[in-house]
Amino acid sequence: MGDGHPAKTARSAEEEIKEKLALACRILGTEGHDDMDLGHVSVRSPDDPDRMIIKGKGLCLSEIHEDDLVTVDFNYRKIDGRRDPHGEIPIHIEIYRARKDVHSIVHTHPLYATAFSATEQILRPVNNEGVLFAKPLPYFDEETDLIFAPAQGTSLSEKLGDAKAVIMKNHGITVVGESIEQATVNAYLLEKTIKTLFVAKVFGEPKWTDDDEAEKKADHIFRGNRIQAIWDTLVRQLELRERPLRILEALLLQPFSG
Ligand SMILES: [Zn+2]
Repeated sequence: MGDGHPAKTARSAEEEIKEKLALACRILGTEGHDDMDLGHVSVRSPDDPDRMIIKGKGLCLSEIHEDDLVTVDFNYRKIDGRRDPHGEIPIHIEIYRARKDVHSIVHTHPLYATAFSATEQILRPVNNEGVLFAKPLPYFDEETDLIFAPAQGTSLSEKLGDAKAVIMKNHGITVVGESIEQATVNAYLLEKTIKTLFVAKVFGEPKWTDDDEAEKKADHIFRGNRIQAIWDTLVRQLELRERPLRILEALLLQPFSG
């Protein structure tokens, strides 16, 4: 017996998640995570937990739409999509394999976080949302090379452990979440925190929120649907930025009346 509601078709669930994944790419691309055509966001497939949908190769994050995404299984086979997958898919596959709680992964090379990754410093919360990262993030320093081989992905995944993100020496960041919204917002807030730390260091030696207060503060800030509210805000800001382009496209599609 059903629950009285018509069952959603697998196709529509996939379409919905692809739209959200493309949005996540464009949000991060316009919020400081673009590094030419590098960096990628993925989501575990809603139809098969051993597959993922991920940004395809060849475009910036800020240029991604639904048909630029590819589906890859955890045997490293491309299932669907017109683009090639990125070489660094072992980051995603090996973390999904190890962390059943993870449903979305961001791997990017944002300027401030990447510069910070070269310093071996421990990230401390210097701003409000920084308390999200008060428990020091793991630091992957076994190598600084791109993660092209499954064994490298496994090493990174082991370093990540049960954390929400890992800083990769001289490379960038990998951030995980239970949903596209959570992984995207956490990646956005991680770069924001490190950028704030950079500015604080220009002013002088920064003080940070201590561990006890950080826990209480995180509870206050991220109580309820705060992650969803930040995601909704980022979506609205992106729509505002993209609106002039959409109007122009609609005008160009209109037939001449004269
Ligand atoms: Zn990379």
